[in-house]
Amino acid sequence: MRRPFCCEDRRFRRNRRQENSPAAPFESDRQTRMFGIPRSTRKPAAPRPVAVTVNGRELPLSIRENARATRLTLRIEPGGQALRLTIPKGLPGREIDAFLTRHHGWLMTRLARVEESGSPADTGKITIRGVEHRIQMTGKLRGLAEQTELDGMPTLLVSCLPEHVGRRVSDHLKRVAKTEMERLVRHHAATLGKPFGSISYKDTKSRWGSCTSEGNLSFSWRIAMAPDFVIDYLAAHEVAHLKEMNHGPDFWATCKALCPRTKEAKRWLKQNGSRLFAVSF
Ligand SMILES: [Zn+2]
Repeated sequence: MRRPFCCEDRRFRRNRRQENSPAAPFESDRQTRMFGIPRSTRKPAAPRPVAVTVNGRELPLSIRENARATRLTLRIEPGGQALRLTIPKGLPGREIDAFLTRHHGWLMTRLARVEESGSPADTGKITIRGVEHRIQMTGKLRGLAEQTELDGMPTLLVSCLPEHVGRRVSDHLKRVAKTEMERLVRHHAATLGKPFGSISYKDTKSRWGSCTSEGNLSFSWRIAMAPDFVIDYLAAHEVAHLKEMNHGPDFWATCKALCPRTKEAKRWLKQNGSRLFAVSF
């Protein structure tokens, strides 16, 4: 997953759709039409904002020009600590200001959601495979955390000093991620008839998974908090890269064949991924 949480400018996306119609004009016309300014009279970019204040917090904003971008894409960095904006090359500063103004409400809502998710030690709760578990201290000081059900409620029993709860819970999530991912990767790789190398688990803040050209797979163990169909999608996505090392149509066809709920899972990650990255242990 390269873009787990992004907001694409629908206005520009609409323009792009129109351009893809059979009556699409030539490339040069397209560029002009999109931004309403003839190429030759385009002014040098204005000074750009370096921070955006949302919900009383100043968030650093990095702006990246991409010659291939046809629209603006705003991303909340994992954990909600910073923003990144990708823009078409040469886009005037006022377009950037207008875009940020238009998306202020979106940012407020999304960041509030990110801030809500505190550490399990504070909230006394942790979501495991999409199911919220209450954390219950056993009073013992040693032992692995254990999932069970108490009084009809999913519960994670934790044995440690209160200050070590976060560590015990994250250790448990790592074990869950490892168990689930190994099972799913084996299953999907067998379906494709492709061998894979090693599987490793990281706490990267930039992506959910990766696949090297040697077939070594890597996952963020935080995916253990997501519902099962999302975990399945992530496994299918990286396994599909064993066949297609790109994100082209053949790749997505393979991914969907392995995981029929691909579209739904992508949407789930886009809407909820930042919350999982924001949980501090
Ligand atoms: Zn990918």
